[in-house]
Amino acid sequence: MEQSQWIDVVEDKFKYQLDHFVIPGHYKDDVESILIPHGLIMDRIAKLAQIITSEYDSERIVVCCVLKGGHQFFSDLVNYMKKALNKQGKTLPMTLDFIRVKSYENDKSTGKVHVSMSEKELQELKGKNLLLVEDIIDTGNTMKKLLETLDKYEPKSVKVASLLLKKTPLSCGYVPDYVGFAVPDLFVVGYCLDYNDIFRDLDHICAISEVGKSKYAA
Ligand code: 5GP
Repeated sequence: MEQSQWIDVVEDKFKYQLDHFVIPGHYKDDVESILIPHGLIMDRIAKLAQIITSEYDSERIVVCCVLKGGHQFFSDLVNYMKKALNKQGKTLPMTLDFIRVKSYENDKSTGKVHVSMSEKELQELKGKNLLLVEDIIDTGNTMKKLLETLDKYEPKSVKVASLLLKKTPLSCGYVPDYVGFAVPDLFVVGYCLDYNDIFRDLDHICAISEVGKSKYAA
């Protein structure tokens, strides 16, 4: 995918103000700004679904959700993929799977990556077409490590769809096959992206505030 094919989000505190959209009362002091309103997220996912479905033939794919942050994106993406396939009059059988990967505590990478699949589950990936669905690529280390692990089990193909790609100088250079938005180098929450398991119930993607960071620190 060409880099220009993702939407570049720039930090602009005055573009979408907190009172332009519905923010749950329990988070009103905990977010600094709205970066991507929920409606825009959904419209972009519809387009990603159209692109992804057009690039596969009719061989079964395993769409694998990277938990927990990728859960909402996964569910909306799969729904839009089904709609896009219907529109295209195309069949693409999909198996849905889940993998849990954890690398962050508070807003810092721990440097270690835990992958939660049993040896048997990993061996079953042999010869399969995998589409990994992730919420955000920051340094890229988590995805690089996950891809190295999965590669040992010889899947037929592996592609990665990430809703967000962070513009950070700490990037290891990894770029996913499909990206929704490139976001500024801030810790973002909402649309299932969490800070110590908080903010998954916020619909918009927002920058966390200092108040939020200290209120929900581990
Ligand atoms: P990476 O290894 O690319 O630095 O980090 C990948 C993982 O860290 C993501 O899957 C996500 O769980 C978490 N992460 C990185 N940046 C952010 C962020 O800005 N907000 C949230 N909520 N999680 C992040």
